[in-house]
Amino acid sequence: MPYEYDDQNIFAKILRREIPNNTVMETDYTLAFHDINPAAPDHILVIPKGFYVNYDHFAAEATDAEVVDFTRVIGAISHAIKATPASGGNGYRLITNAGHDGVQDVPHMHMHIIAGRRLGRMIQPA
Ligand code: 5GP
Repeated sequence: MPYEYDDQNIFAKILRREIPNNTVMETDYTLAFHDINPAAPDHILVIPKGFYVNYDHFAAEATDAEVVDFTRVIGAISHAIKATPASGGNGYRLITNAGHDGVQDVPHMHMHIIAGRRLGRMIQPA
């Protein structure tokens, strides 16, 4: 079943500048901004500017330039906030949720960068 992109989702509105965001980094293909409800001292959302619903949609249909840029932005931000072990940080976690079981709230592809405290087990018991 092909994905249908809902252009009324909150991140589409952020990309159209209809609602504000606290930008961390922006490139031709990617926007990164602070999560409005942070789960840790550092909680940044990275989104492609293209209209992809989730990660598998992005992986299948994004251009190589979009995929490379998205990946590099995540790496650069993780380093800039000094979360990477290479920058002397204590580490970080990347999360992308998809669909019902993944508990995805916003249907525009996004990666969470979460850092700044020990995060505990990756998955809660059911
Ligand atoms: P999901 O559950 O879809 O993986 O995550 C959606 C994330 O978007 C949540 O962490 C939520 O706090 C964040 N969020 C929802 N609405 C807004 C908003 O208007 N602005 C920002 N910056 N983040 C938002």
